[in-house]
Amino acid sequence: MTAPHPGGLDQRRRLVTELPGPRSRELSARRAATVSAGVTVAMPVFIAAAGGGVLLDVDGNSLIDLGSGIAVTSVGNAAPAVVTAVQAQVEQFTHTCFMVTPYEGYLAVCEELANLTPGEHDKRSALFNSGAEAVENAIKVARHATGRPAVVVFDHAYHGRTNLTMALTAKAMPYKHRFGPFAPEIYRVPVSYPFRDPAGMSGEQAAARALDLIDTQVGAEQLACVVIEPIQGEGGFIVPAPGFLPAIAQWCAERGVLFVADEIQTGFCRTGDWFACDHNNVIPDLIATAKGIAGGLPLAGVTGRAHLMNAVHPGGLGGTYGGNPVACAAALASITMMREHDLAGAARRIEAIAAPKLHALAARCPAVGQVRGRGAMLALELIDPATGAPDPALTTQIVHACHNAGVVVLTCGTYANVIRLLPPLVIPHALLTEGLDVLTHAVLTATT
Ligand SMILES: *Cc1c(COP(=O)(O)O)cnc(C)c1O
Repeated sequence: MTAPHPGGLDQRRRLVTELPGPRSRELSARRAATVSAGVTVAMPVFIAAAGGGVLLDVDGNSLIDLGSGIAVTSVGNAAPAVVTAVQAQVEQFTHTCFMVTPYEGYLAVCEELANLTPGEHDKRSALFNSGAEAVENAIKVARHATGRPAVVVFDHAYHGRTNLTMALTAKAMPYKHRFGPFAPEIYRVPVSYPFRDPAGMSGEQAAARALDLIDTQVGAEQLACVVIEPIQGEGGFIVPAPGFLPAIAQWCAERGVLFVADEIQTGFCRTGDWFACDHNNVIPDLIATAKGIAGGLPLAGVTGRAHLMNAVHPGGLGGTYGGNPVACAAALASITMMREHDLAGAARRIEAIAAPKLHALAARCPAVGQVRGRGAMLALELIDPATGAPDPALTTQIVHACHNAGVVVLTCGTYANVIRLLPPLVIPHALLTEGLDVLTHAVLTATT
């Protein structure tokens, strides 16, 4: 197996100005004068080129990318195979609208989704533009197919920013604050959160806690679906205790409630398998995908049991741009790359390098409350060691130190106290190690 070509960029961290540099500062001033203040940026460094594990900014600084544009550029940024596929498609046609005059690329993506998503059953898919749109459409299918109104979601869930998905998302600030009223018939129950649950609570016990609330406060006969991220993303990279997901899925199956997996962040090799459900031996009835599917182009999908996906009346699903041909070409090239270069294995190798370093850091530093995650989806939860309380200020301090040193890391968590790592799966290992060393140094400096 050969390492995929990372593109033309020198795979090194190199700072030639302070960050942000003068050109980025100029652009930030333009941004303030023209972009809504509601749209913020994590790191005000403007990018000119990117590839492999680096982002090159407009001042000539080369940064280590441990974020992948939020788990999107798993195959690398501007991956040469994706660029070639996109260029070839864009020269043929850019758009027809699949609902007007169809094209083969859409079918090929749906065939890949049927083959790759968990379960050997007969499947159908529909394609959309964003993760939120995929989740909304999964709920449309679930309600239509079951004839039931209610939807159950979990504490710390993140499913998007549209009206329905805001209702599904747990965290008020910034996602929901003053944006209501929200869609009705959404019910929230506790997830399995081993770091904060009562000591020793098993996945089965955490499932029983949630299911008792669903039984008593919603009622299975009212419930269309349970929507869950197999590892929660924005909510804090929360990995449920073993047994939690299978117990929820089994309860659903016994009651005709659909189990909807939101694998928008976890899917497409990120966690070391094609999908995070694979690791848990859970077969969702419907699965929502997006982010890593298309190497940076906007594409999302809902894939599910054929009788559910086909229950919807003709014309009930769709959208002008859903399954755009250029995005489909990018997805097919990305999926081919994942298969040919075993990027699920690459995610496991990233874990094998990063997890021991992060655990060693936690052993030295009591403010690192927990290291968790799977594959190339890893996180540190930062706490006040005296009380165990979340420490968002420390988290911000560490993240700023990483950014100033030219390493792009992201935060997450309901209490904004989790640093998450989502490197491109093709990141050169030397660059990954260097990025982790910068993070380790930032944590130790901030806590000692
Ligand atoms: C990012 C994300 C979404 C929303 O996707 P968008 O493309 O931003 O609409 C939904 N669910 C999960 C788990 C996500 O990580």
